[in-house]
Amino acid sequence: MPQSFDLLVIGAGPGGYVCAIRAAQLGLTVACAEKRATLGGTCLNVGCIPSKALLQSSENYAALTHDFAAHGITAGAVSLDLARMQARKAEVVSANVKGVEFLFRKNKIAWLKGEARITAPGRVTVAGTDYEAKHIVIATGSESTPLPGVTVDERRIVSSTGGLELDAVPGHMVVIGGGYIGLELGSVWRRLGAEVTVVEFLDRIVPTMDQEIATAFQRILTKQGIKFRLGTKVTQAVASETGVALTLEPAKGGPAEPLAADIVLVAVGRRAFTDGLGLDALGVARDERGRIRTDAHYGTNIAGIHAIGDAIAGPMLAHKAEDEGVALAERLAGQAGHVNYGVIPGVVYTWPEVAAVGQTEEDLKAAGIAYKIGKFPFTANGRARAMGDTDGLVKILADKTTDRLLGAHILGPDAGTLIAELATAMEFGASAEDVARICHAHPTLSEAVKEAALAVDGRALHI
Ligand code: FAD
Ligand code: NAD
Repeated sequence: MPQSFDLLVIGAGPGGYVCAIRAAQLGLTVACAEKRATLGGTCLNVGCIPSKALLQSSENYAALTHDFAAHGITAGAVSLDLARMQARKAEVVSANVKGVEFLFRKNKIAWLKGEARITAPGRVTVAGTDYEAKHIVIATGSESTPLPGVTVDERRIVSSTGGLELDAVPGHMVVIGGGYIGLELGSVWRRLGAEVTVVEFLDRIVPTMDQEIATAFQRILTKQGIKFRLGTKVTQAVASETGVALTLEPAKGGPAEPLAADIVLVAVGRRAFTDGLGLDALGVARDERGRIRTDAHYGTNIAGIHAIGDAIAGPMLAHKAEDEGVALAERLAGQAGHVNYGVIPGVVYTWPEVAAVGQTEEDLKAAGIAYKIGKFPFTANGRARAMGDTDGLVKILADKTTDRLLGAHILGPDAGTLIAELATAMEFGASAEDVARICHAHPTLSEAVKEAALAVDGRALHI
């Protein structure tokens, strides 16, 4: 008789492992299959965590080489030990993935090592062993989208995985795609001394963010030395021992031109990963982009098979996957889990950071919703001045008639932390006036949030 579980989760990324933990907390017997040697998925192994480790290290390096002198701090000769920086990153990853192992033991979750395939509803094979499960959750995540004419070899032409592992600072790095990965990893290598050129198909960067914020963001990145080729596509990249020869063309057509690089980072998006699961044989429905179709409760068209995270529709973000994991586990345990898709923050962890929640000005215009805007620049915030971090602004969008918060966008120091206040306010259905009336400690960056909320009604105090 195959071993049987209430729930068998396939994939131990933030969607899968969090779903497994929540279900175990609620008394279900749970197994989680993972084909990678370690738990934590893309996020902990080759995504969020290693990228943030390198962002922090490179930020420290840039502060020492560029910013500390203004504070009256000068050091002797500064040197970069990239091998040590990479080793530290590996230590950070290791501590995180071991933390998930500990949580599995604590919650008595069976870790099934190997690639899982669903052989029938309620039946899964992992590395040759059969298991039974009342419920199956697919949380197999995503992989980087390939670009025709540009073959990733993870040496000269890298995806984010190779881009996190370089053992030397490239002379010239060409980044294809001006989104989350391109700008975060482009920033890392720029700060460490590379010349960085971002080639972006559209005529703007970070296409899901508010346009005004994106324009200001691009200006700041340009000041940091990153070059941009907007409205441009790469049609070919040929790698050799010495570098990569790229062919660029205007996105709307026109003459081709060459560009030489030492390293090319391909970051044109990610796509759902469902290979090897046996979905075609089972008849599990997918959408036109290969994502598993689910109903509002994460059920697929096959009873007993559910899906969450990057493998289904919605933003490909770790916290979105986690919240879906919790909501689904609670539903399977008879509770009423729910995710509010209108209030999922997004953060680009460059410096300054860019953070957003809710709708952009472009969204509101397209939907014909009348709105008011409040803006406040960090140049007018005392704490930002003391820090020497005055680039950026807070922008709040509120309903013209009701004053209810509709969206918030922050470009500035610690924007990713600051956005949490506005996400909380939006979850509670707050108005801009509500945020403006909250006492914010002085001197903090969060006063810029309060001032932007006051500015919605034309009453900012410090500008
Ligand atoms: P994944 O984390 O992709 O996990 C899926 C797991 O399933 C994998 O471990 C895979 O090995 C396993 N698997 C697949 N098929 C099988 C099978 N058949 N059998 C067994 N196991 C299988 N998001 C953020 O919110 N913040 C960030 O700062 C951030 N930074 C990122 C940086 C980079 C460089 C990248 C690439 C991504 C980043 N993301 C970030 C996105 C984030 O990593 C994903 O949204 C998140 O990991 C999705 O979680 P998931 O559980 O759906 O899938
Ligand atoms: P992305 O969708 O963020 O950005 C891709 C960019 O590439 C877009 O600007 C797009 O217009 C551009 N593009 C597409 N095709 C192109 C082409 N042929 N030539 C030039 N440009 C092209 O994707 P990403 O940066 O690869 O990241 C994938 C996903 O991973 C993100 O969307 C996000 O969900 C997640 N992620 C999140 C974080 C974070 O939360 N901080 C960090 C990294 C990754």
